[in-house]
Amino acid sequence: MKIICIGRNYVAHAKELGNDIPEEPVIFMKPDSAIFRQRDAFYIPDWSNNIHYELEVVVKLNRLGKNIEAKFASKYFKELTVGIDFTARDVQSKLKSKGLPWEKAKAFDQSAVLGEFQDVSNYDISNLNFQLKKNGELVQDGNTSLMINSIPKIIEQCSQYFTLKIGDLIFTGTPQGVGKVEAGDVLEGFLENKKVLNVRIK
Ligand code: MG
Repeated sequence: MKIICIGRNYVAHAKELGNDIPEEPVIFMKPDSAIFRQRDAFYIPDWSNNIHYELEVVVKLNRLGKNIEAKFASKYFKELTVGIDFTARDVQSKLKSKGLPWEKAKAFDQSAVLGEFQDVSNYDISNLNFQLKKNGELVQDGNTSLMINSIPKIIEQCSQYFTLKIGDLIFTGTPQGVGKVEAGDVLEGFLENKKVLNVRIK
């Protein structure tokens, strides 16, 4: 399986990092080895001094598809959750300044944290509230209605380039409020006030 990620999909987040609003989705990938499987905690890697959390809505594909039109996209996923796209911001800034690919900053081991998947039919994907709390304090407060490219549009765009397979994941971009994690922090992710993600930082 593969993990497709969308960058700069919320205006306020693109601006907080000093980026332009993209004309088409910014797409990058993480390998399956990036999936967070350490149940006890996320360990800050020793090669970065600035790991950021980015809370995002994540959809899981349940059908094979290519060149999917946005109007049919809802037939291709049945589950969603929130996840964290951990990003080594210091490494990413260096790579960006040289015009180099982002993989070292984005696709490293344990960098894709997933909450518990939920049945899509219980949610309105075009108006979905999701939040991240750090140490009990609200740090990201997003709603999918503020996306530059909606989830159906993202599926349309991605499937032009990549065949989508059963089990593939799409991280759909983070809203404003990204920030650094420190050892001892606790991150909690919420989908419409339901806690679906919990990770401790070490
Ligand atoms: Mg992200």
